[in-house]
Amino acid sequence: MNIKCGECPGHMKETELKEFEAGALFGLKRVCLRHVSALVCDRCESVMLPGSVLEYVQETLATWIAQHVEDLNPASFRFLRKHFAMTQADVADRLGVTRLTVNRWESGVIPIGRAESIAMRTFVLLPRLRRAASVSLRRARIAEKAGSPQIEATP
Ligand SMILES: [Zn+2]
Repeated sequence: MNIKCGECPGHMKETELKEFEAGALFGLKRVCLRHVSALVCDRCESVMLPGSVLEYVQETLATWIAQHVEDLNPASFRFLRKHFAMTQADVADRLGVTRLTVNRWESGVIPIGRAESIAMRTFVLLPRLRRAASVSLRRARIAEKAGSPQIEATP
């Protein structure tokens, strides 16, 4: 693989980074990645994360924020909105507020209420719940057909 650096005439080399601060990539205060494989320029040391890593980190952060962050701050609110590829107008429409209100939440001019936080977090979690439910429904259906035999396996 021979990828040129975008910042200088150097070349990108596959490297495992012990620690990489990726907060800026996601618009969040601090996102520390450990033992992450990346492309690093052999001259200027600029770092490029592979798309698969970005996708994984994005998905993991969205789930984590939705499950654990009770009161979203402007950055985490914006992060979740972008995670759904929603515009401020889309979010405003779904939450029944104006686009200006969403803009003020994201710029920290007015605080994001607990209810709005719960709504945004629910947007993340609901599709996952639906998927999990349909998987377990399917499993229940085929288990019943099969007479629910016990399974013990060593993968
Ligand atoms: Zn470079």
